[in-house]
Amino acid sequence: MRFHVKQGGGLSEEGRALLLEGGRALGLDLRPQLERFSALYALLREGSQRTNLTALRTEREVVAKHFLDSLTLLVLPLWEGPLRVLDLGTGAGFPGLPLKIVRPELEVVLLDATRKKVAFLQEAVKALGLQGAYPLWGRAEELAHRPEHREAYHRVVARAVAPLCTLCELSLPFLRVGGRMVAQKGPRVTEELEPLPRALGLLGGSLEEVRSLHLPFLEEGRTLVVLGKVAPTPRTYPRRPGVPGKKPLC
Ligand code: SAH
Repeated sequence: MRFHVKQGGGLSEEGRALLLEGGRALGLDLRPQLERFSALYALLREGSQRTNLTALRTEREVVAKHFLDSLTLLVLPLWEGPLRVLDLGTGAGFPGLPLKIVRPELEVVLLDATRKKVAFLQEAVKALGLQGAYPLWGRAEELAHRPEHREAYHRVVARAVAPLCTLCELSLPFLRVGGRMVAQKGPRVTEELEPLPRALGLLGGSLEEVRSLHLPFLEEGRTLVVLGKVAPTPRTYPRRPGVPGKKPLC
């Protein structure tokens, strides 16, 4: 058993209280979404017994490091209106599922290269009754060249997917000019940021903001790196699958 088991499979009273308090720390009232988060917790727990969905084990860890960490995105004023959002390398749905739960008017595409994770997401989206959330299986390097995805998104988000120099090549081709990419990073990003302008220049991106914050209940810092799309990305990017990781642009 990978998680603490509670009767019924959803969040315990303690887990609910933690989520609500953490939400308040981020300026969010999560009471209306509590049952959905509880159901998502049950789905993750159940899914993790079948496949290796996530490394997090305890309820507290799932609430803090998956749910609340995903929701730190909402401290940025970037989520108003019916926007198309791509969660690149979403894994078991983070940050995309919490974002969709709290901002249902967003259209959220949940992209991952691992088939079993996408199969889990299909089940989860259905079980949670989420309209306008679309699991998508494939590699960013390939999908970014398809007309229906190329420069088709207002926002791209990514957590724990790749270093910034690789990530910007994978993500910027999906963005419309004027769109924003938000990378969720740990406390130290200075080294990754330093060479970034070189890659951004090639891809039509710009560095807009670097926001440091503390995750509720954890003594861990987080950084949100916001990139803007200022010009179309040349057709040559992203390069073939694996190349952005092996030979990063910066
Ligand atoms: N964002 C999630 C998962 C992080 S693990 C979280 O924070 O919990 C990274 C995920 O990115 C993996 O599931 C992997 O399959 C996916 N991934 C890595 N490179 C990718 C690519 N080029 N295209 C699509 N998905 C990719």
